Parts: sequence; C-alpha cells; structure tokens
Amino acid sequence: MRLMLPPALLPDTGRRRFLRGAGVGALATPLVLSSIGGPAFAQEGGGGGGVVTGRDLPDRAVGRPQPQAEKEPPLPPGERVGYAIVGLGKFALGQIIPAFAESKRSRLAALVSGNRDKALATARQYGVDEASVYDYQTFDRIADNPAVDVVYVILPNALHAEYTIRAFQAGKHVMCEKPMANTVEECRQMIEAGRKAGRKLMVAYRAHHEPHNMEAIRMARGGELGQVKLVTSDHGRHLDPKDPADQWRMDKSLAGGGSLYDIGIYSLQAARYMTGEEPVEIRAMMHTPQDDPRFKEVEDTVTWQMAFPSGALALCSSSYSIDDTKRITALGSKAGLRLDPATNYEGNQLYLRRGGSETHMKVQDKSQFAGEMDHLAQAIKENKPVNTPGEEGLQDVRLMQMIYESAREGRPVKVAEGR
Ligand code: NDP
Repeated sequence: MRLMLPPALLPDTGRRRFLRGAGVGALATPLVLSSIGGPAFAQEGGGGGGVVTGRDLPDRAVGRPQPQAEKEPPLPPGERVGYAIVGLGKFALGQIIPAFAESKRSRLAALVSGNRDKALATARQYGVDEASVYDYQTFDRIADNPAVDVVYVILPNALHAEYTIRAFQAGKHVMCEKPMANTVEECRQMIEAGRKAGRKLMVAYRAHHEPHNMEAIRMARGGELGQVKLVTSDHGRHLDPKDPADQWRMDKSLAGGGSLYDIGIYSLQAARYMTGEEPVEIRAMMHTPQDDPRFKEVEDTVTWQMAFPSGALALCSSSYSIDDTKRITALGSKAGLRLDPATNYEGNQLYLRRGGSETHMKVQDKSQFAGEMDHLAQAIKENKPVNTPGEEGLQDVRLMQMIYESAREGRPVKVAEGR
C-alpha cells in the first residue's frame, strides 16, 4: 500500500492530486474529509467545524453534494394529481393552465372544450395526449381515464352544477370556480353528489392561497390587530361587451347575477375571512342604470353592510362601471390592515396601519392558482378536508341571495339558520 502524506502537509498541486487519487469526484454526499485533512479539510454538506476553501477543490469537473432540499420538493409527474380542465376560456387559458408549471403536486391531464381546434392546439402546447381531449358530449367518458383525478369546472356560472355532478358521477373529485352555482338548491345538489360519490368538492377561492391575503388573515385572526371592528371591501371594474368573456356575464340565466356574483363575492369573502365569523344581519342597496344596454338583465352597483356576532361590522361593494378596484381593509382596536390591490392575480400589496401611519409589508408573491390546486391534490392524497369545501360556496350564494333580497325590499335581512 502506498503511503500518502496528509493533504495539509502537501504542497498545493500535491493536494489536488491527492483528491483526484482519492476519487473525490465519485464520492457521494456528504463529502467528509476532516479525518484525513485536518481543519482545512473539514466536512462539506453540513456539520463539521472547519471551512472549505476554493483551494481545496479539484480543478476538473466533479460531482458536488446535493444542495439543501427546498421546503417542499415537487413530486415527480407520475405521483401528481391529474386535472381535467373544463372550459378553455379567458381564465382557464390565461391563468389556470399556465399555473401547472408552478405547481408541485398537480399536473394537467385532460381538456374539455366545445371548440376542438382550440382544445387540440392547447393540448399540443401543454403536452396533453389527444386521447384526453373531450367535448361536452363525450365528457362522461372521462370516467375511463385513470390519468384524471380532478375535474376543474371553469365554465359560465350556470353550468357549474351540471358539470360538477357529472364529474362526481364519473368518479372524479371536483374543483369548481366561484361562484359555486347560481342557486342555493344547485349548491346543495352538488354537495350531495360529492357525498354520494365519496369524492371531494372544493370551491376555487384563490384568495385563501394568495400570500398577502393569507398573511392578513393570520394577523387579523391571530389578534395582532386587537379586536377586528370594521372590514371594508370594494371590488369593481368595467363590464366590457366587446370581451367574449363578458358576454355571458350580461345574461342572467348564465351568470346568475351581475357585479355581486362575479366580483362582489370577493368583498363578501373578505368580510368573512377577515373576521372569521358569519354575518347575522345584512342591509343592502343596489343601483342599475336603466338606459345602459349592458344592464338589461344583471345589476351594476351593489353596496351592503353586514353585522357579525362579535360586534364587528362590514361595509362592502361591487360595481361593473368603475375603474379597476380590488381592495380590503380590516381595522382593529389596536391596528389595521389594508390590502390594495387585494385580489389581483399577482402584485397584491399589504400595509399595516398603526398610530396613524402605514407601513408596507414585504410578502413573497407565489402563485395562488398553483397553491389552490396543490391544496386539493394534497387533501386527496392524504384524505384530509379542503379549506373551502362546497359548504363555503353555498354560504356565499345564500348570503348573496339575501343581499339581493335586502336591496330589493329595502329592509334589513336577518341571516337565520336554515335559509
Ligand atoms: P370565458 O367566457 O372566457 O370562458 C368560459 C368558457 O366556457 C368558454 O370559453 C367556453 O369554453 C366554455 N363555455 C361552454 N358553454 C358556454 C356558453 N354557453 N357560453 C360561454 N362559454 C361557454 O369566461 P371566464 O374564463 O372569464 O370565466 C369562467 C369561470 O371562471 C366563471 O365561473 C368565472 O366566475 C370564473 N372566473 C374565476 C376567476 C377567479 O379569479 N377565480 C377569474 C375569472 C373567471 P370552450 O370554448 O373551451 O368550450
């Protein structure tokens, strides 16, 4: 056996030869040389006392220790939950399908569309097998596709119930866009179909997976604001008849309602998730211009107040004829929060108000769409409940109906059990 000097005693070039001779390039991690090298050859890859300097490294290409793992490494494709996207419209193509690239537990497995050319082009773009492209007539054959675990319904609101129920009958789990459905009765049927099938139903409330809203919820519900006394939330935009995605939104039979159903639901959700309570009373007003052809069937502007059991009050609004607005404030006895914008797809901002001044809070942006899909994927794999199940969607539809009732009848409405 050849005698080797400890590397610390070798001249520089000798050290590099020593490392090569010891087959360092082939060593698996962690690379532990401290026992032969003294302090200059302390452990790499964690632990150990010494410091590895560049002079200790071999001067040719070598493998290196595995970097410290991310908090949650992505699952390999074969272990991910497969999603079928139903309805390839503005939101599905612009936000949801691209977000699979950022997900860690979900993958795009199938497409359902009434426009075959668009569906095939999308399938090619995202690597979906042509055999996994369906239309609304062949949709039920998805039952025979083992690559699909979840059906994600991104259709006009009136179609959510039908495709959710058909997906459950095909044995799949369901992610359903907001609002869950047009009527309370439809929501109940969807929940019942899921229960019968033994499958999960999640309403896609993305704000619950949006980091700024999550941080605001943590602070408001964790007592950092003191007692939450007042929540305000406004959501508005211009309804645009030239935008194909807005055309069905002018048709009450497809949309279920106007600005309230479409974006007011974010204001309603904000009041509920910031207080962590359910309202006991609602007072609402509504205004819809009579001479604007966009509003022949659906309402324009709605404002409503809600009272919560703790004494917290909420002041909310939605409008289809104001500049883009998405904001939430939660004001407590000690401090307040402002989210503005609050519910953008990205770039939301959170401010803390205390002693009359505001501090901008740094929150790391992260895809809320990937977050919500991965949440359902994890719930399926680990058989856990989802954070926004059908009951959450039903409650919003129920409350929105009461907001309309209060505005129509010009009186407060008590949120009684069983309504
Ligand atoms: P779009 O009109 O852009 O897309 C709807 C798609 O549904 C159409 O492209 C079409 O897809 C399919 N469709 C089937 N039947 C009809 C019909 N009778 N009329 C119109 N479309 C039909 O709408 P959005 O993408 O904006 O909205 C879809 C859903 O997503 C809604 O429930 C909406 O509330 C929700 N949404 C949620 C958002 C969120 O942030 N969570 C944001 C935006 C929307 P195809 O051609 O492939 O058949």
